[in-house]
Amino acid sequence: MKHYFHGGIHPADGTDKQLSNQKPIRIYAPKTVEISMKQSPGSICEAAVKVGDKVSKGDLIGRPVEFGGANIHASISGTIIDIRTDSDFSGRKSEIIVIQSDDANADETNSISDYEESLVDLSGYTKEEIIIKMNEGGIIGLGGAGFPTHIKYETKERIKYILINAAECEPYLTCDHMLIMEHGYAVINGVLLLVKASDADKAIICFEDNKQDAAKHLESIVSDKELPIEIKILPTRYPQGGERQLVEAVLRMEVPAGKLPASIGVIINNVGTAKAVADTVIGSIPLITRVVTVTGEVKEPCNYMVPIGTRFCELIELSGGYTIKDQRVIEGGPMTGICLQIGGTYDTLSGSVTKATSGLVVLKDVPKDETPCIRCGECERVCPAGLAPFKIDFAAIEDDISLCNKLYATECISCGCCSYVCPAKRELAYRITEAKTEIYRLGA
Ligand code: SF4
Ligand code: SF4
Repeated sequence: MKHYFHGGIHPADGTDKQLSNQKPIRIYAPKTVEISMKQSPGSICEAAVKVGDKVSKGDLIGRPVEFGGANIHASISGTIIDIRTDSDFSGRKSEIIVIQSDDANADETNSISDYEESLVDLSGYTKEEIIIKMNEGGIIGLGGAGFPTHIKYETKERIKYILINAAECEPYLTCDHMLIMEHGYAVINGVLLLVKASDADKAIICFEDNKQDAAKHLESIVSDKELPIEIKILPTRYPQGGERQLVEAVLRMEVPAGKLPASIGVIINNVGTAKAVADTVIGSIPLITRVVTVTGEVKEPCNYMVPIGTRFCELIELSGGYTIKDQRVIEGGPMTGICLQIGGTYDTLSGSVTKATSGLVVLKDVPKDETPCIRCGECERVCPAGLAPFKIDFAAIEDDISLCNKLYATECISCGCCSYVCPAKRELAYRITEAKTEIYRLGA
């Protein structure tokens, strides 16, 4: 049986992912980390430490000051040597806490816990305890949106299904794929905790059919056991991993406009989030590391397991540097990521890994010259949200935010499909996303 959602595209042929999914995850321990107090797009924390403080790995260093934030912990042991203020690409200011490592990191051994190599007895954990630990451990969605996981599980709705997003539909990124291949047991233990935390009937782990090996690996862990887990393989089609698209493709249900998936009994989590839940709840390790794909036009594309706060320039250096001069560096995938640098050398690349950083993708920069819309309708055909992007774009250019709202700009998932197919090279996704932000800001 095929599982499709409305719209979507095939932006790549698969060779892009092979750049980084053919070799093991490398572990990297930096001497210094720069941890932003803004770990996801919509959340600011305030520092809970001061310059000169000594911290151990896992100590709380940042507390949320607004809805959508989550605790932030020291990702290495050491001394706070600086706390500075920085601005992100949107101009929003937040603090950066700089920790210099001490010898404790150098002596670390990577011991493997039971939950990382076997299914463990979870009967001693209550639903309430799991949710509290997710909150304390600063768990947020690792798929990019970065919403605190415990808030999803505090819903009053009756949850029937947990969808575990292992689609990794963005081209080039393979961090989820490699995490599953190397940490399958921790992922499954985490999924079982999420089922418990929600009283769901079952979890469905959703793959695209270009990751058969990862699906088989998890299948081998859960097969012959009475577990509330199903593995589902979906056609490779971007943006298969979008929350609404996943619900439509897997459950044949529709999340009503303006509502959360919980309103129809569904919670969606990224596969990396499931592993982080196991680390926190069973391993008592807050969310302080993640896997990051560094790929594209670098000498040695690879996935790295790194502490949060690892500087981007170090990751590019580890990967042998750029292979071209006119490069564009993107944090995240090429469809939805944020451009960090165009041209220049990697030692001038600023920024560091956050909990939401899935990858650094280096591509050749191709300047876009927008031309007038020719009304071909391609953007409307591929829009997975069922919108008419060219109409919203016209309204956005006219600053008609009310019309943007009437055209349902708030339903845009910023997938970039419209911009990708537009023969006039119009920056549709960018302008529609800006309009959406403006609608929310004005409460239009
Ligand atoms: S309008 Fe939004 S949801 Fe639709 S294709 Fe463009 S970016 Fe994607
Ligand atoms: S794809 Fe581009 S040219 Fe075609 S209708 Fe949409 S905005 Fe216009």
